[in-house]
Amino acid sequence: MGEKMKNNSIKKEISAYDNAMKQLKIAADKLKLSEGIYEYLSHCARIYIVSLPVVMDDGEIDVFTGYRVQHNDVLGPCKGGIRYATTVNLDEVKALAFWMSIKTAVVGLPYGGAKGGVTVDPRKLSKKELERLTRRYTSAIIRMIGPHKDIPAPDMNTNKQIMAWFMDTYSMDVGETTLGVVTGKPVELGGSLGREEATGRGLLYVIEKMHEKKGFKLDENCTVAVQGFGNVGSTVAILLYEEHNCKIIAISDIKGGIYNPDGIDPIKLKEHEQKTGSVVNFPGTKSITNKELLQMECDLLIPAAKENQITEEIAKGIKAKMIVEGANGPTLTEADKILDKKGINVIPDILANAGGVTVSYFEWVQGLENYFWDLERVRSELKRILLIAFDRVYDLAEKEKVNMRTAAYMVAVSRLAKAIELRGIFP
Ligand code: NAD
Repeated sequence: MGEKMKNNSIKKEISAYDNAMKQLKIAADKLKLSEGIYEYLSHCARIYIVSLPVVMDDGEIDVFTGYRVQHNDVLGPCKGGIRYATTVNLDEVKALAFWMSIKTAVVGLPYGGAKGGVTVDPRKLSKKELERLTRRYTSAIIRMIGPHKDIPAPDMNTNKQIMAWFMDTYSMDVGETTLGVVTGKPVELGGSLGREEATGRGLLYVIEKMHEKKGFKLDENCTVAVQGFGNVGSTVAILLYEEHNCKIIAISDIKGGIYNPDGIDPIKLKEHEQKTGSVVNFPGTKSITNKELLQMECDLLIPAAKENQITEEIAKGIKAKMIVEGANGPTLTEADKILDKKGINVIPDILANAGGVTVSYFEWVQGLENYFWDLERVRSELKRILLIAFDRVYDLAEKEKVNMRTAAYMVAVSRLAKAIELRGIFP
């Protein structure tokens, strides 16, 4: 057998959707959910796969593949981000759409779940190519989106400029400016103050609340390792550093990781990352691998890059005292079991990173009303909503003696099941 084949047979792709379904099953069993409702929730309502021909700057045509998956809209219009990455595939988008249904239900937002993505490395495209790709993608899925149907937002490698092009393309099609079709827009175009920081700030609020409950140190002696230094990872690292003086000892991005046991200044690191395109080679730090970062001795481990990072093998070596999931789906179910046995608390993604969709909800409300809030109101409403969800999940976990992920699923699935029961199954 050739080396390549051997590697292929060893390196079986992990299905994020299978992992999501295992998480659902644990909660469904605990809730004694009927088989029919379980089946209902384990299917995505609509799946769109589109081909996107784009004229590149050199005049050649490249064809990209785009996805939009609507998992469920029983509680309201679908909501979920758009990801641009070479790793985007149907399995990943389905899992992310499902997690959005669960997340919005945990927090109690009037939304269903969706997700979209394009298989592309956006760093290889010029700004004009990126704009043409975004407009073509918007146009290809335009019949299934809308401010009362399905409202996209940013995710990995997409940002407020991409949301502005998205909103403009939709508005050109319907013949009127429609702010509510997308969230995460620039503030000058109906975006909400506090949206960009919302996911990282939400993580901070749940960490502070967990600190109140468990009494661990949250000061200059609290050591933190963060995987991913994008919107979520950099914001939470900076907030923990600024608000609690925490010691950020390790950070990574797609190009590599850095470590300094005496602490890394995340604000200076952000400047370095913006100049060089990566956290690597930040002065005063030592290079580390992704695995070393995840298995580092620290108080808080914050995976904030992507799904399927904490596998069974990684979990065995994890020495962090607590894990706070910034990314969606970073931990596999088999790894959860190991973390439970080791007594490591995990604040799950569907609660911990819900700050982003919560402020997206505020942006949508503001866009529909054409009345815009100040930053103080955004932050205090975000804190209020997230902490209500936190308490509900935390109390249920204590009562049922389950981990916080299962408790969060139980909250969400109960809400969804009740809504399905009240609406009935059409026809
Ligand atoms: P981003 O594109 O701004 O940043 C992603 C970061 O992860 C980058 O630093 C990238 O280099 C790094 N990365 C990618 N692959 C990696 C790997 N294999 N190893 C180490 N680092 C890697 O994306 P983001 O918006 O910060 O999203 C990060 C995660 O958080 C995703 O799972 C996303 O779904 C989730 N999330 C984002 C939001 C939001 O509001 N942006 C909300 C909820 C959840």
